[in-house]
Amino acid sequence: MKTSPVNLLSLTVHEVEELTQGLSWPRYRTQQLLQWLYQHRVSDIDAMTNLSKIDRQRLRQVATIHQDKEISRQIARDGTEKFLWRLADDLAVETVLIPEERRRTLCISSQVGCALDCEFCLTAQMGMKRNLRAHEIVGQVLNVQAEMPEGDHITSMVFMGMGEPLMNFDEVAEAIRRLTNLEWGVGFSPRRITVSTAGWIPRFPDIRRLGVNLAVSLNGTTNAQREHLMPAVNARYNLEALLSACRTYLEDSERPLTFEYVLLAGVNDSVEDANRLATLLRGLRCKINLIPFNEFPGNSFRRPAPDVIETFQRTIRSRGLDVFLRKSRGDDVLGACGQLGRSASEVLEILPTHNKRALPIHVES
Ligand code: SF4
Repeated sequence: MKTSPVNLLSLTVHEVEELTQGLSWPRYRTQQLLQWLYQHRVSDIDAMTNLSKIDRQRLRQVATIHQDKEISRQIARDGTEKFLWRLADDLAVETVLIPEERRRTLCISSQVGCALDCEFCLTAQMGMKRNLRAHEIVGQVLNVQAEMPEGDHITSMVFMGMGEPLMNFDEVAEAIRRLTNLEWGVGFSPRRITVSTAGWIPRFPDIRRLGVNLAVSLNGTTNAQREHLMPAVNARYNLEALLSACRTYLEDSERPLTFEYVLLAGVNDSVEDANRLATLLRGLRCKINLIPFNEFPGNSFRRPAPDVIETFQRTIRSRGLDVFLRKSRGDDVLGACGQLGRSASEVLEILPTHNKRALPIHVES
């Protein structure tokens, strides 16, 4: 029985090794293949010019290179771009590119939907569809980079898109290995990669070993607040357990932690909240990013008024902590933090199951 060709991008290093062994090729071919995929970023086996014509033919019989297709690309007024990709099984996932002066930050998704239920997050409303595979995560990076103008490149990556990355740790870790490997991989510095978690603490030690940055989405200063805002994760790992895991993480890590705090009007934005936050994080090597809530239709949370945000920040700063205000980016195309998921779930409804072809590229000015 004829088996269908395997997607080279979906293989681990070990599986590429097995493939080259199966073809009775010398060992160095493994590295050559990986370099074609991740450094030269070819989309066609025929472009692998250091393989003979006969070898390329043999490879084509057993393998292919399949990249996820772009369904839409929206550009917000502030230059933030939101990409929607169609996966091989017709699910869809989003990636956001945020330009800021000379920085280009890519916000990557790790799951289609999310198993957690943070009340302020649009992705949560999709429910959990499935984990992304490593190549679907790396593909977001390679595909966006391929669309950027010459001389322009991604300067940092954050796993803050759809999904809880630490609940898909193995695939996220494999993706990070491919993105950071210097010999055959993309060669990106792990110091420029941040993995953001709602507090899935069993994986904290594993993330530390990868050498990337860890950000914790805190959003509440009491268990009651976290139960209200992030019920699923707080039921498993409450505030005390989370902070204890953070302390342990910092004991063995050179890198400081980042705490993210989504500011919700009348919910967690009082001076008492600010003081409690400062007390909770006192003595931890960390910085705090405040994220004023990005409103979206169907959600009753509101963004606090500018003076409330300023007072909150000033209160924490007066207690000696590093606290920054994250500017909202791309909110007119629902590309801002907590706003991902609408396009991905809508596309599933828009596309008839028997005829899922790519939608035309949609660019807003
Ligand atoms: S905030 Fe993150 S962890 Fe929480 S539901 Fe949304 S995607 Fe999942």
